[in-house]
Amino acid sequence: MSEAIQARPGTIGDGGKRIAPYPTEISGKFKKNRQFVAWALLGLFFLIPWVNIQGFPLFQFDVFERKLTLLGQLFWPNDVPIFVPLLISVVFMVFAVTASLGRIWCGWACPETVFLHFVFNPVQELLEGKAHIRKMRDEAPFSLDWAWRKSLKHLIYLVIAALITLTFMAYFTGIQFILRDFAGDPLNHSMAFGFFASFSLILYWTFAFFREQLCVIACPYARFQSVLTDRQTLQVTYDHVRGEPRGKPKKEASAVFGDCVSCNQCVKVCPTSIDIRQGPQLECIGCALCADACDQIMETWRRPKGLIRYSSDAKILDHNEKIIRPRFIIYCIVSALLFLVFMALVALRPRQQVDLTRQGGRPYIQMENGDIINFYHIRVRNKDRSDREYKMKINDLNVELIAAETQFKLKSGELKTIPINFKIPGYSFQNGKHELVVEIDNGAKIQKIKTTLAGPVKYGR
Ligand code: SF4
Ligand code: SF4
Repeated sequence: MSEAIQARPGTIGDGGKRIAPYPTEISGKFKKNRQFVAWALLGLFFLIPWVNIQGFPLFQFDVFERKLTLLGQLFWPNDVPIFVPLLISVVFMVFAVTASLGRIWCGWACPETVFLHFVFNPVQELLEGKAHIRKMRDEAPFSLDWAWRKSLKHLIYLVIAALITLTFMAYFTGIQFILRDFAGDPLNHSMAFGFFASFSLILYWTFAFFREQLCVIACPYARFQSVLTDRQTLQVTYDHVRGEPRGKPKKEASAVFGDCVSCNQCVKVCPTSIDIRQGPQLECIGCALCADACDQIMETWRRPKGLIRYSSDAKILDHNEKIIRPRFIIYCIVSALLFLVFMALVALRPRQQVDLTRQGGRPYIQMENGDIINFYHIRVRNKDRSDREYKMKINDLNVELIAAETQFKLKSGELKTIPINFKIPGYSFQNGKHELVVEIDNGAKIQKIKTTLAGPVKYGR
């Protein structure tokens, strides 16, 4: 027998107040597999800041030096356009995954789910017991037992939130800064400390109090998924063809009922307190705990497992499952092509940045002997991973390059700005212009920069 459709999520009460759910703990194949994935992801998250490739971090978005290190490769602010194809490629990959596998990200890999279900919840269960004991304790009058358990839980939550924040910061500052400078004297780094304290508190509040509400009411990804999914999308689905009409079979009339025995276990284990039998819902994070719970019930009743399973409406209603569909293929092809463009741009990007700019003020001055002087700045950044020796020259016999240094060495990532002047006889100008090419040779490659020197339109003026 169908039940009335819930008007609002079970975790939201009158006036939008959160109703804390007490989802029953459950084990099963989906939970085990998700746990395995979660441990792998947690391992990656905490390990990556420690990994170096030939002295360069595996991944670091260095806020102090404004550089990105990715897989040991260095990128600087003027490399940002290189990442445009990568970002669009990721967007298309998200389209492909969502169109085919629904909210697989939410249930299996989203940091909110991974930390909440596999880090914070186990701490809660350890200290406050399973769901029914927790509920009993929370509803009972104040006791010291309740107080110490809650206090210790929140203290551990705070420590975990701080550890997550420190690791997150290491992605931006490097692990050495966290270990040596920040941990040594955090108050000496007021900005970093401010970020650490506020981000830790936000994380603590999210995992201690806001919890599933982040997915239910705040996550933007959940909201735009409905335009990406269709009848063929694989998601955690209740097989209503097999399950209805619901009810506990009586011995003499078992044929009247479908496979759903109306035990409500699927609802009791749901972390967002929804009933998957009412169809796909915005609040469903695709964790498949209801599928694990239902499989156990089916086993007890000696019925085939999978009344709730990863499936699609098309499969259940029409027996027509097509995970690989034209839109999936198109999304994947576009994503792959854009990724190849990104790889090509990375491979071809110059290993040095050279900017030749005029100094402010007058564009040129004319000497008494008629020579013209143009004033410039040249800025050279070594974007390579190794130190490099640079030589600057011009191949124009009319022009004299006047610079404090025409040969210099730069460490990896180092930036140097040198004022340079170009001296040229006034008669060399045509219509007040003289084209010039400046060459910067780094030993491996010569980079040529064109500029137009300014001078008098008519010589002798
Ligand atoms: S766990 Fe399975 S059998 Fe029990 S109510 Fe849910 S769908 Fe029906
Ligand atoms: S309905 Fe099932 S898959 Fe969806 S959130 Fe609840 S338990 Fe997880």
